[in-house]
Amino acid sequence: MHMRDIRIGAQLSAAFALVLFFVVVLGVLAWYHTDVVWRSLDGLYRHPFVVREAIGDLRSDILIIHRNMKDLLLTEDPARQDVLLRGIGLAEIDAEQQFDILFDRYLGHRSDIDSVRIAFELWKGIRQQTVRLLHAGRRDEAVQRTMADGVGGAHAEHMYRLLRTIQGTAQSKADYFRQRSNEQKRALTQRLVGVVLLILFLSGFLGLLLFRAIRQPVSELTTAAARFTNGDYDVRSSVKGRNELGCLSAAFNGLAEKIQREIRLRDTVQHIKHALVEEHTLHTASKTLLRSILTRTSAKSGAVYLYQEANDNYTLFESIGMPSDTPVSFSALQREDVFGLTMETKEITRISNITDDAMFLLKTPEGRLRPKEILSIPIIFDGRTHAIIAITSPTGFSDQDLGVFDQLSLFLGTYFSNIQTAERIEAYASTLEKQNQELEAQTRELCRQAEELGEQNVELALQKQELSKASAMKSTFLSNMSHELRTPLNSVIALSGVLQRRLRDSISEQECSYIEIIERNGKHLLSLINNILDLSRIEAGREVIENSDTNIAHLVRDVSDMLLPQAEAKNLRLECSVQQDLPTVVTDAAKCRQILINLVGNAIKFTDAGSVRVSACVREETMRILVSDTGIGIAPQQLEYIFDEFRQADEGVARKHDGTGLGLAISRRYATLMHASIEVESVLGQGSSFTLVLPLRSEVSADRYGTQSSTVNTVFEYASHSGAHILIVEDNEAAQLQLREILEPQGYRISTAGNGAEALRQVREIMPDGIILDLMMPEIDGFELLRLLREGAYGGTIPVLILTAKQVTREELASLKGNNIHQFIQKGDISKRELLAAVAGLVRGSESVIPAVPDDRTEPQHLSPLPTVLVIEDNSDSMVTIEALLHGVCEVKQAGDGFTGIEMAVRLKPEIILLDISLPELDGFQVLDAIRKQTHLRDTPVVAITALGTIDDQHQIIRRGFTACVEKPVDGANLIRTIMGLIHGIHQS
Ligand code: ADP
Repeated sequence: MHMRDIRIGAQLSAAFALVLFFVVVLGVLAWYHTDVVWRSLDGLYRHPFVVREAIGDLRSDILIIHRNMKDLLLTEDPARQDVLLRGIGLAEIDAEQQFDILFDRYLGHRSDIDSVRIAFELWKGIRQQTVRLLHAGRRDEAVQRTMADGVGGAHAEHMYRLLRTIQGTAQSKADYFRQRSNEQKRALTQRLVGVVLLILFLSGFLGLLLFRAIRQPVSELTTAAARFTNGDYDVRSSVKGRNELGCLSAAFNGLAEKIQREIRLRDTVQHIKHALVEEHTLHTASKTLLRSILTRTSAKSGAVYLYQEANDNYTLFESIGMPSDTPVSFSALQREDVFGLTMETKEITRISNITDDAMFLLKTPEGRLRPKEILSIPIIFDGRTHAIIAITSPTGFSDQDLGVFDQLSLFLGTYFSNIQTAERIEAYASTLEKQNQELEAQTRELCRQAEELGEQNVELALQKQELSKASAMKSTFLSNMSHELRTPLNSVIALSGVLQRRLRDSISEQECSYIEIIERNGKHLLSLINNILDLSRIEAGREVIENSDTNIAHLVRDVSDMLLPQAEAKNLRLECSVQQDLPTVVTDAAKCRQILINLVGNAIKFTDAGSVRVSACVREETMRILVSDTGIGIAPQQLEYIFDEFRQADEGVARKHDGTGLGLAISRRYATLMHASIEVESVLGQGSSFTLVLPLRSEVSADRYGTQSSTVNTVFEYASHSGAHILIVEDNEAAQLQLREILEPQGYRISTAGNGAEALRQVREIMPDGIILDLMMPEIDGFELLRLLREGAYGGTIPVLILTAKQVTREELASLKGNNIHQFIQKGDISKRELLAAVAGLVRGSESVIPAVPDDRTEPQHLSPLPTVLVIEDNSDSMVTIEALLHGVCEVKQAGDGFTGIEMAVRLKPEIILLDISLPELDGFQVLDAIRKQTHLRDTPVVAITALGTIDDQHQIIRRGFTACVEKPVDGANLIRTIMGLIHGIHQS
């Protein structure tokens, strides 16, 4: 029997048993020898030691007896003798015991002991004889006997000799025992060394045997496993046997076999997949699939049947090695033939018992053979069998083949689906490419057209450039022309007005009407020019929107009040229905006002009878201001043109009604700038309604709005008198409210009184810092109240601002003069800015001035020495006009150029300087710089007279150091207000 057939457990058990046996042998051996040594030791103990001890005791007993005998002979004391005799007796008894031990233990000749005993017995008789001699009184004889040379002494000596002999024998026995023990020890050592060496040798041999029996197969197995891991799949373990290692080797070989099979299977599948990956069409893919299957498995022919949805059939799509009469298609519904089961179960079907009438026969050089096996493999995706692969083998399919088909069938489902999708995409792509090509052709054509267009564009751009040049020239021309036109026109209007007032009493009515015509036509021409200028400013993009919180109710009322005289002149009702609680709108109030003036003005102009109605309401985040009339209306076909420049609905009518045809055009452009719109509805002969639609919040960004607001605020800055208490004496509640709304936000504390009595009471109670007084009141009127105030204990010095719509006569003015009136303002002319300036002056206690506004029909009055105004203007007509306008209000000093102006300013130190910007040689800015260099003129207000007329320009002028700016054509009232404001209250920066 070979070691490899013995189980490793058995081998190890045998080795263990053997080692155990050796250990037992070693133990027995050691036990035996230990016993021998013990016996030697026991002998050693029993004989030499005990015998020598007994001999020693015996000697001492003999010695005691011998000595006692001597002592007995020497003493005569009977008691002492008794003691000695008793001692001798005891020694004899002990000697007997020692003899017994010697008899028992002595290993020498027994006669040795007997000799001593006999001698002892004899000595006993000798001693008895000696005692008898003593008793017989023969002491000396008795003593003689105990001497060394006496019979007793000699006998004792004899016994000593015998004992020495016995002792020598005992000693030699001890030596013998010792020697024997030594020998035993040597023998034991030798035997033990031998046995240990034997055990070592046997154990080593056994270990070697076991080592070889285990290590060799294990190393063989390890090598095989390592080679297998490194890819040598053919390696197998050669370890054979029925023990564990043999079993392990067999298991390893089995595992390697299985893995190798799996790898081969995977390689085959992988190879087929790789071959398929390179195919892009269903036909080539099917062909490659069949080819790969035929070369890599035992299949020898095959066909791919593809499902056709159109006829619910599987149609032969690709085949290799199939006879020509192979069925071309079969129904997907009929499940009885070869593929029936496959279609039914959707699993690979293996048909082995092929009959003669099978549908597949193998085509071989030897003729047609019946295959041994047919496989039908379904190709499934989306749960449907999209194709079936039929393959045949003349030998049958191995398990490996079946494994390959199993794995392939899973992969082929996705693969066929992908390839069909790819084919579809390719078809789309080719269609797209075709379309692309067409598009490219179209693009080329378009490019060509674009090139042509580009050339045309260049031409157009050139034309545009010329056009914008022309437009710029037009704007400049219009600006210049309007400047050139407005300067003389201003003179014409202003002077005709002056003439009319001055000559009213000295010329005939007809001549007076001529002057009126001159003035009216001048104004018409001026309005035309202003409109043209506005339009040119909008077109040049120089119009700026200045948003602010705007009270629409006030604005609408303001415009209605302003145009009321026109309506009344035509006997029209001008109705204004606006609620007071309308929300404020963030918008450009000035432009809004201008639009409303135009709309309401048009309504009045084109209405001969009936009414004009202005209303406002909020709807869908917008403020809608509606101006409707019962006038002539506009024909529908004209509606779309009325907002065009210089377009009038009907030339004839327009001419009849006067007008420039620019009002609506400008209004719409303003509205567009403000993100507002103007809507119109009209029925010819019945009336029209125009609606201005304003967004509640301006879309202009808050930042921009804020910036603009602050810019505006920097132009006019009022001295702040927060906390000053103002009493408004006014019977009209709306007017009270209006004043309160203007003054309260500026920090003034406001109290109101609706009549004179109430006013007197309030003055007493609150002692206001200033009073704003309306002259026309029921019961106690303004004049009377003023008189009572000045006469009374209270209010005698309170400054009063007269605010009235009444035309004051010379007499009334004279009466006011005596009552410490601070300022006198005509209600109709007042603006928020002027009112604030006037109230600021009132509270600050500026010098009293009456009046601030000239009356067109009466000569202007003043209650203080006339202020000197230096006018520096090169245009003599303008100079005459300004002088005429300021006549009676200021003392006008004239300078025709910059140099003269500077010289006169230094010399005259005027209260105000009016300075034309466009002077020859030294322009207005240079003159201003020169004036400002004079210390005493540093604070003198200098007002720019400019014809440039845009807000931008005004800002620039103010920034350059002018105190204020007045536009040409100079409006008399405005000029005087500005001058008076500067002298009495407004700080313009
Ligand atoms: P103008 O009033 O100076 O002629 P507008 O631009 O203001 O110019 O108006 C253009 C035209 O629109 C007017 O000439 C007139 O024919 C028509 N129109 C404007 N408002 C009215 C209205 N309320 N009723 C009838 N027609 C109007």
